[in-house]
Amino acid sequence: MNKNEIAAALREMGLKNGDKVLLHSSLLSLGKVDGGPEAVIDAFLEVLGKEGTLLMPIFGSLGILTEIFRNRPDAVHSPCPVGTVAAIGADAEALCKDHWQAATAHGKDTPFTRLADMGGYVCLMGVDQDRNTSLHSVEALLELPYLCDTTRTFETPEGETVTKTWKYYPGPHRDFIGVDRFFRESGAMKITRIGNSQVRLIKSRDLLDIGMALGRKDPAFVLCDNPECADCVKQRAAIYADRMKHEAFQLSASSRLAGRYIPEIIENLAAAGIQAVELDYLQGRACAFMAPEKLAAAVAEFSAAGVSVSALSAAVVPNDAETFAANVKAAGITRVILPVGAAEAGKIAVDAGLEVFFRNSDQTAIAASKMINDFNLNVPAKACFNPVSFLKANETPFLKSYRQGRFIKIIGQLDITDAVWDGTLKPLARGNGEIKELISILRCHNFSGTFCLGGGTGAAGTLKENADQLLDLLDNM
Ligand SMILES: [Zn+2]
Repeated sequence: MNKNEIAAALREMGLKNGDKVLLHSSLLSLGKVDGGPEAVIDAFLEVLGKEGTLLMPIFGSLGILTEIFRNRPDAVHSPCPVGTVAAIGADAEALCKDHWQAATAHGKDTPFTRLADMGGYVCLMGVDQDRNTSLHSVEALLELPYLCDTTRTFETPEGETVTKTWKYYPGPHRDFIGVDRFFRESGAMKITRIGNSQVRLIKSRDLLDIGMALGRKDPAFVLCDNPECADCVKQRAAIYADRMKHEAFQLSASSRLAGRYIPEIIENLAAAGIQAVELDYLQGRACAFMAPEKLAAAVAEFSAAGVSVSALSAAVVPNDAETFAANVKAAGITRVILPVGAAEAGKIAVDAGLEVFFRNSDQTAIAASKMINDFNLNVPAKACFNPVSFLKANETPFLKSYRQGRFIKIIGQLDITDAVWDGTLKPLARGNGEIKELISILRCHNFSGTFCLGGGTGAAGTLKENADQLLDLLDNM
């Protein structure tokens, strides 16, 4: 290849005088080029002409072509220590100026989005979408919840030393390669060959529009689904936590569902994006019977990992209810969930300063709600509604139990679990627990209490599976 052949191929591809192009390239992909990297740069500049502009990102590890481009005497560098680009041409200054003042490195008021506004192109020469910086623009414009802040101290073009934080900065691993087919299928991206190089050309505006449509549909669209990729597991969890923040209810999960040992439980909660735990069992033992110092240490360990304890759940209340309540309180837990009928222990717990929920076990809805309402005549308490236990009492949890027991007035927690009539646990909305109906009606009331995955009776499958099933239900209501 020589300069003229490359220029002809670029024109053939559709580039012309006055165009603006952001180029990501691998020189090696072209094969042997007479005149080397200089000839490739000159071919682009010749085709774009005096009115055109060529840009290249100049951060990360740079190839020889970019290295030479950025060092050309007429190259303008965008004055920003993150997401920096170099540009040569009529609009170099307009594209680059004040880059550092933008709120993000790749979003609004940066060379990347200005290029789209000016009708420019993104060109990938012998590289894939993994190198496509404009996909960072898509992420930043969507303000995806897994993106982080980044801070740098640097000198502005005016010679001032400034420390600045840019929001929505790209994280570690993403799978941009998988996006390529959407650009291809849209028809907006051309793929041609120059020498041995596969060259992609797409209008920057089309790239942003297509990418943003994908991201709006699925905020995890550039995350990989490899369960061994710790980066993407964490980034997916951030999306999940952000999604749940927009719900009125508080999400928690049974410690028994989340794992056996505390570090394992913390890791599984983090991977699922859940920030609260209901302590029922740890290492197979009932938390209600833990030694007070061990219980306090467990709460502290969760707290240090950013996990709050939504409640201590006791399926059986210890004989010495006063000591039990005092220990729970001393551990820093604010709420206990006791079995329906444990009125005496409930009174003691309220007196100890704890919030009390009563969970149905084998009662009918009428009996369970009567007990809670009677209790409430003297001291406040709420219902923890377990649909699987109502199934075992031969009631349809939504159509009968929830309505007959008038639980709307007293419910403080819904256990998120499902089963068939004999109590065999099933994935959410795959049993007879009417869990979808229960979730839906509570959401319609803007229920601000707790949804607890696997609370009380446990749940089929893993914590992650249940969290995903819940999200799926919410997204399909
Ligand atoms: Zn990954």
